[in-house]
Amino acid sequence: NQGRVGFIGLGTMGREMARNLIEAGFTVRVFDVLPNAVAELVSLGAEPATGPADAARDADVAITMLPDTPQVEEVVLGPGGLLADPPRGRLVVDMSTISPVAVRRMADELKAAGIDMIDAPVSGGPVGAKNGTLSIMAGGDAEAFARATPFFEAMGATINHVGGPGSGQAVKLCNQLICGINIQAICEAIALGRAFGVDLDQMRGVLLGGSAASWMLDKLGPSMITGDASAGFRIDLMLKDLRLVQEQALALSVPLPATALVTSQYVEARAHGEGTNGNQALFRVYDRMANQ
Ligand code: NAD
Repeated sequence: NQGRVGFIGLGTMGREMARNLIEAGFTVRVFDVLPNAVAELVSLGAEPATGPADAARDADVAITMLPDTPQVEEVVLGPGGLLADPPRGRLVVDMSTISPVAVRRMADELKAAGIDMIDAPVSGGPVGAKNGTLSIMAGGDAEAFARATPFFEAMGATINHVGGPGSGQAVKLCNQLICGINIQAICEAIALGRAFGVDLDQMRGVLLGGSAASWMLDKLGPSMITGDASAGFRIDLMLKDLRLVQEQALALSVPLPATALVTSQYVEARAHGEGTNGNQALFRVYDRMANQ
């Protein structure tokens, strides 16, 4: 046994990350508001917890992987939360994508109680989570980052300390705006290629061999070409991330015109009831515009 982890939030990403921690030999105590999610991890060797504080009780680190800022604030600061009954190692690592401003606020509150907080959002999607190859971008104190590193190594392949509290989220938001605009660019290329009548699979292969190659074209291109809108990183979550980007852009007076446009297109997608589709389903917005 290499150490104890309290893991809270066992959704698309968290369940795979918690499983990798178990497989790496850590003792993992899990909580999610969905009992089925807890039961699934218990069948893989985790201990069940009755709430966030119970999950973190004897843990060297409490890790959260939750949808958005309010859920992380509730789990960290709320009744029965981590601040009420701090983890033994007094280290909280949030790996969700949330507001960097909220991270700084929570890190200050935790610090006052003698608890270090690292913000460590991830990139790599459910496949990266499953394979333990996530890119982890961490903000916070260097000494706390060093303590979190053995746990990160069970979940990720690219692990970087990128600055003080909130810096991990800042880098992640830059990652997300590139992803959104890149998906938009691929939608436009597919719309034009389809109208020309070119073979889209072949086009994708050709483009992947040249300077237009990207992770999005590689991993999401096939479903965009076949019209598979299902699963993956939900449109709702992408909109959440783009909203966080816009909030920072306004707060810092940075014009981000391309982000503004693609955000509107994701709002349009959600208005058509597509919030639970994968974010590659932005192609549906293009299908509607071109009446394809
Ligand atoms: P998800 O919605 O699948 O999982 C979230 C889990 O948190 C759910 O199981 C939910 O029941 C649980 N939960 C919600 N509120 C809770 C609470 N108060 N207490 C305990 N559990 C609670 O989301 P996900 O796709 O796993 O993403 C998690 C985070 O990681 C998000 O911030 C997302 O933006 C980010 N992220 C997702 C991906 C991806 O491809 N899915 C990739 C990188 C980053």
